Amino acid sequence: KKDINIISPPWGELEGALVPAIIQDATTKNVLMLGYMNEEAYQKTIETKQVTFFSRSKQRLWTKGEESGNFLNLVDIKNDCDNDTLLIQVNPVGPTCHKGTDTCWKTENTSTYGFFSTLEDVITERVSNKNTKKSYVASLFDKGINKVAQKVGEEAVETVIEAMDNNDDLFLYESADLLFHYLMLLQAKGFTLKDIEKELKGRHK
Ligand code: AMP
Ligand code: ZN
Ligand code: ZN
Ligand code: ZN
Repeated sequence: KKDINIISPPWGELEGALVPAIIQDATTKNVLMLGYMNEEAYQKTIETKQVTFFSRSKQRLWTKGEESGNFLNLVDIKNDCDNDTLLIQVNPVGPTCHKGTDTCWKTENTSTYGFFSTLEDVITERVSNKNTKKSYVASLFDKGINKVAQKVGEEAVETVIEAMDNNDDLFLYESADLLFHYLMLLQAKGFTLKDIEKELKGRHK
């Protein structure tokens, strides 16, 4: 794991000042939030490897996540061209905004994984829809988790077969089948893509 590269913190010239810190997701590169740091907050951030601000409203050091558990795990700190703004890359533990979204500039999380998030929502909608005319998704769900899992297995085998053939169209077709049914299985088990992301990020040291 590489060390954090600290390039001359701003407090030489700006003694006692609050410096804006832009918080960026190290993986997605989304800007998550903005906070202010004094030198103490900066030092604590580096020592604990969890982002700590100086809260202007609380008038004290504030470790993001101290109540919610949604800490910002430090990946890298960069100073800007004229030494007065920090860019801090992090791995967020959960949603960064206290209103529950990933970033402070988003009103909902539906587009986190683009169209795949839309598909997750569609599956949720189909399953909860109490229409008498059942959708494919709803009928497969009704047959139980084992049937959904079996279907994922079938689509996986089909994907493997097409991967070994030289037919790109069929490979893409079966891959799409596999991913879609996998999204269904995730949901049948009570999980979302976010849980998979969390697991993978945990391994990505
Ligand atoms: P947390 O640091 O996540 O435990 O949240 C503690 C409190 O800090 C919340 O109740 C909010 O008042 C505030 N807070 C948390 N996250 C943010 C944020 N992204 N922007 C502004 N205020 C926040
Ligand atoms: Zn600047
Ligand atoms: Zn916010
Ligand atoms: Zn198929």
